[in-house]
Amino acid sequence: MKIGCHVSIAKGVENAPERAAVLGCEVFQIFTRSPQGGRAPELNEQNITAFKSGMKKYHQAECLVHTPYFINYGSGNGRIFYGSVSVVRQELERASALGAAFVVTHLGSFKYLGQKKGFAQLILGLEKTLKDYQGSAQLLLENSAGAGDIIGDSFEEIAAVVNHPLLKKFKLGVCFDTCHAFASGYDLRTPTAVKKTLAEFDETVGLDKLRSLHLNDSKFPLSGRRDRHEHIGSGHIGKNGFADIINHPKLKNVNGYLETEHDRVEEDIAFLKELRK
Ligand code: FE
Ligand code: FE
Ligand code: ZN
Repeated sequence: MKIGCHVSIAKGVENAPERAAVLGCEVFQIFTRSPQGGRAPELNEQNITAFKSGMKKYHQAECLVHTPYFINYGSGNGRIFYGSVSVVRQELERASALGAAFVVTHLGSFKYLGQKKGFAQLILGLEKTLKDYQGSAQLLLENSAGAGDIIGDSFEEIAAVVNHPLLKKFKLGVCFDTCHAFASGYDLRTPTAVKKTLAEFDETVGLDKLRSLHLNDSKFPLSGRRDRHEHIGSGHIGKNGFADIINHPKLKNVNGYLETEHDRVEEDIAFLKELRK
């Protein structure tokens, strides 16, 4: 497992690989546009070439693109629903142009349409997003911190989407966020707990779908239903859980991305590298 974190694209996406290397990253995650919304900055030949050569120059093995925060496939507002479809597709195309391996997205909430209608719209939305998509970047769905109607807090819900008959051909993957899973009741504090959680994931979603990890400790206890990231080892998951996760033989081929606050993210990266055998 290679280790990295989320980095800023301030002053151009082409600056991200160097910024990542300075923090000690071996891989990194970016937003290619404002996470709050609005038009995406244009990617031209120049940015793309500079970004790709930066990846090589600064020895960054993989890049993960995160979609903006407003994505909601369950929205009752047509503008938000169609905006989600079009922006996720744009991010897939942009990530492919940059040579980024994955685009990770949240799915939204069933709050507005309810479970049944919301789920039908979600499947339709993902079909629209991926229709005739030819790019190289793979779409990953992120598990969420269970709070109310949020989509994707249980492995069963993720499995129902990823393994849906209408979506199977698109080869969706999953990005597993440790803080979100823990908040949603999946224990990761000990090797035994990690083993059990991974077995549950494997039985429902399938471990072959797991393509990346968000490595975040949790400010709230198990099943706290709250999405608050803590620095590695300082939260309720703790050092032993992360030592087991990053050295786990079944997770050998996925990379881990920190989304902890930047005040101590360098320490988090160094700490995880230390824990890695
Ligand atoms: Fe996320
Ligand atoms: Fe995350
Ligand atoms: Zn989170």
